[in-house]
Amino acid sequence: MATVASEAAASGTPGASRLLEVRDLHVEFRTRDGVARAVNGVDYSVDAGETLAVLGESGSGKSVTAQAVMGILDTPPGKITSGEILFQGRDLLKLKEDERRKVRGAGMAMIFQDALSSLNPVLSVGEQLGEMYVVHKGMSRKDAKAKAVELMDRVRIPAARERVGQYPHQFSGGMRQRIMIAMAMALEPSLIIADEPTTALDVTVQAQVMDLLAELQREMNMGLILITHDLGVVADVADTIAVMYAGRIVERAPVHEIYRAPAHPYTRGLLESIPRLDQKGQELYAIKGLPPNLMNIPPGCAFHPRCPMAQDVCRTDEPPLARVTYEGLTAERRSACHFWKETLDASR
Ligand code: SF4
Repeated sequence: MATVASEAAASGTPGASRLLEVRDLHVEFRTRDGVARAVNGVDYSVDAGETLAVLGESGSGKSVTAQAVMGILDTPPGKITSGEILFQGRDLLKLKEDERRKVRGAGMAMIFQDALSSLNPVLSVGEQLGEMYVVHKGMSRKDAKAKAVELMDRVRIPAARERVGQYPHQFSGGMRQRIMIAMAMALEPSLIIADEPTTALDVTVQAQVMDLLAELQREMNMGLILITHDLGVVADVADTIAVMYAGRIVERAPVHEIYRAPAHPYTRGLLESIPRLDQKGQELYAIKGLPPNLMNIPPGCAFHPRCPMAQDVCRTDEPPLARVTYEGLTAERRSACHFWKETLDASR
């Protein structure tokens, strides 16, 4: 028998140590054309050793939330208007910039999508990797170079000793992304945020980079936030999935539960649009319409103009991120849909 509880709460692994907790975060962008409400009350958490995949189309708020967590939001025009970001129990939004800087790198690090533009083209990869140790640990250049070779070995860049003096353009896309991973891991942070880390790579290299990231995360018992628009990428590596739409989390659940039966029509649409080998030759499903303009988010459920299950109530009442329960479900699961039970039943 399914039941609903409407209180908002963060997910997590019972007994695991909580690294990050984002509570009711709101972010706006104030522009000449108006105010874009990019993040509208996001709650999520990550434990040590947990991988949280944050999924959504462009403009869903997934990267803006991550930038707010990292403290690298462009302000202005961006502004965190309310909420808390607790990292190892401390609210990052209350820290001074120099304290915040210490948390970045040593406590948490970020991997970006485009390694080529994130790396400095005129410095060798060894200098860039070594810089982390020189600046943060006060190491000599010689020792830092040895550490850089060690890191390159660790992310399995062949012939690291010979290649440590080479420049970013001398590496392939996949190898450059490994260098970015090495850089993020240099100071052994507790949390890594990877923003579309494999989007620019071809499928085989994508899988290798993702496997490497997952392996290092396990070895170091790090928390990992994996931001992606591609549900197919996260199936094997994520523990929990949070699906975002129009700046809100609309579904949050353990990964296997979401794949088994989504409890939100948007998640269902995302799953149905993944190409499948057993459906070769058939037209691929696409969610109709476009994500909303964040300066003019529809009232009620923001997904209603695109939702095949929308009813009158959806156009007026915003659904809370309600608890979803059913027989056999032991972990926490939530959906922001008035008709989550019907969606779940239709998916099973
Ligand atoms: Fe669709 Fe209504 Fe659920 Fe929104 S609340 S996802 S419009 S059924």
